[in-house]
Amino acid sequence: MTEIIEEGIVNEGGLNFVEQEIKDDLAAGKNGGRLSTRFPPEPNGYLHIGHAKAFIMDFGAAEKFGGTCNLRFDDTNPQKEDMEYVNAIMRDIHWLGYDWGDRLYYASDYFPQLFDLAVRMIKEGKAYVDEQTSEQIAAQKGTPTLPGTNSPFRDRPIEENLDLFMRMNKGEFDEGSMVLRAKIDMANSNMHFRDPIMYRIIKTPHWRTGTTWKVYPMYDFAHGQSDYFEGVTHSICTLEFVPHRPLYEYFVKELADESYCPRQIEFNRLNLTYTVMSKRKLLQLVKENLVNGWDDPRMPTLCGLRRRGYTPSAIKDFVNRIGYTKYEALNHIELLEHAVREDLNKTATRISAVVNPVKLVITNYPENQEETFYMDNNPENLEEGKHPMPFTRELWIERDDFMENPPKKFFRLSPDKEVRLKGAYIIKCTGIKKDENGEIVEIYAEYDPETRSGLPGSDRKVKGTLHWVSVPHAKTAEVRDYDRLFAVENPSAEEGDFRDLLNPDSLKVRPNVMIEPWATENAKPEDHFQFTRLGYYTVDPDSTSEKLVFNKTIGLKDTWAKEQKKANM
Ligand code: ATP
Ligand code: MG
Repeated sequence: MTEIIEEGIVNEGGLNFVEQEIKDDLAAGKNGGRLSTRFPPEPNGYLHIGHAKAFIMDFGAAEKFGGTCNLRFDDTNPQKEDMEYVNAIMRDIHWLGYDWGDRLYYASDYFPQLFDLAVRMIKEGKAYVDEQTSEQIAAQKGTPTLPGTNSPFRDRPIEENLDLFMRMNKGEFDEGSMVLRAKIDMANSNMHFRDPIMYRIIKTPHWRTGTTWKVYPMYDFAHGQSDYFEGVTHSICTLEFVPHRPLYEYFVKELADESYCPRQIEFNRLNLTYTVMSKRKLLQLVKENLVNGWDDPRMPTLCGLRRRGYTPSAIKDFVNRIGYTKYEALNHIELLEHAVREDLNKTATRISAVVNPVKLVITNYPENQEETFYMDNNPENLEEGKHPMPFTRELWIERDDFMENPPKKFFRLSPDKEVRLKGAYIIKCTGIKKDENGEIVEIYAEYDPETRSGLPGSDRKVKGTLHWVSVPHAKTAEVRDYDRLFAVENPSAEEGDFRDLLNPDSLKVRPNVMIEPWATENAKPEDHFQFTRLGYYTVDPDSTSEKLVFNKTIGLKDTWAKEQKKANM
């Protein structure tokens, strides 16, 4: 789990190993040359970026080889599932640009067929009702090297099993009082073959089937058969299902003949540094208000990443880079951030925003004068044009861009030093004013009219360039700055309570950020901007007509690219 791999492994044809296996099956004419995949989320939480890795494979392979991909909700446990999750899951898959067309299915659609199969297996002596507690059943399981012990109920007469199973489903017995088990082999070296549970009693009504059923199939008894009923040819899932595969095939064989049988292929899960991916833990963070909901921009959920400002193309690019392999790994979150930065660099509109403002007064600039500079919307793509930015005598600049007693290599503003105001003039600092606490409240400077950007001879070089916003024109915005949600690199590998590993400083709200007026005119939630010199920011749905709220998506500094450069030197 600690091995860190960064670039996915693909063959000469650019295919990962799953795609290659699909290609081989198609070439061999298996299933009549048909390709059908499925994405099978359980509607018990929101999708996260790990799920995205899974469905990018499922939908992506179907797209690549002219097949189809079903969306199947694996709704076999009414105690944990909810309609809210179903809708959110569909929205998130659409967001990444995939669609299941008319192939929307629910495992609950197959409850009648699954029940019939169970009954048939009982009649054939392949299943029995066990009345032991789950603890007793667990205690008899044995270990990988020690065979298990048969249940005292294993050889119950068929008629009795049938009668009990029917009555289990009528609701005559309490939850946990009995289960239906497959009668396979308590000594099998694969623990999953040691009489696995097929059905359990659950009395909570199901959100789709109501109170029709009181018994619900276990994952292993539902998944392969659901694949079979839908005509799925390639059932792609994560590596933890490798030991389940023989059982998957065992149950499918109860239905399939030679002509068609779905095939399970497994790849490595996505694990990210500084992140937990377990749905149970994510649910806990939400329920205990340790984050502000499933779509909190610090969450690895797709709705969280969307709100944070991550884009579908960046997520797909990242998944493509890490690739699909046969061994577990932990991927650096910096690579994801790198992909986001690369994408936003191409598309985000540049604006000027001062997050920690201090006032700069240009004393030789006339009091009521105002002029307009035109700023590139995106220097990476000049076709995107320019937008106007007003310049006046009083400007907001970053407090951090001034130092009264600077060290040698400080190239921003300090007494008697010159800098360029981006896209405008060169100024020279002439003085400061402090309040009674010694805090700087105003900085004074003089500008040189000869240095106006665009004028002939205006290209005199100075070392620093500062961004700015005109004081009378500035709009106030709120900015939410984020840091990693967890303070340790691999929270899932640590002992103890994962909540103790949360970074206490993962959210910092700046209520009084000054932004240039043009940016506020048409900005709507999910719009991306680059705040010049600072980073990428995305408009949050909490914005109002009075005040925009921005989420900091990612800073400009690319630690990933830097590390790669070092590694290649
Ligand atoms: P649960 O414990 O509730 O089963 P889950 O994360 O496995 O949680 P599912 O809804 O069953 O959730 O997942 C749907 C699909 O997404 C499965 O095929 C699963 O293998 C895949 N998946 C889940 N987590 C990851 C991950 N981190 N990386 C890649 N695929 C994942
Ligand atoms: Mg699962």
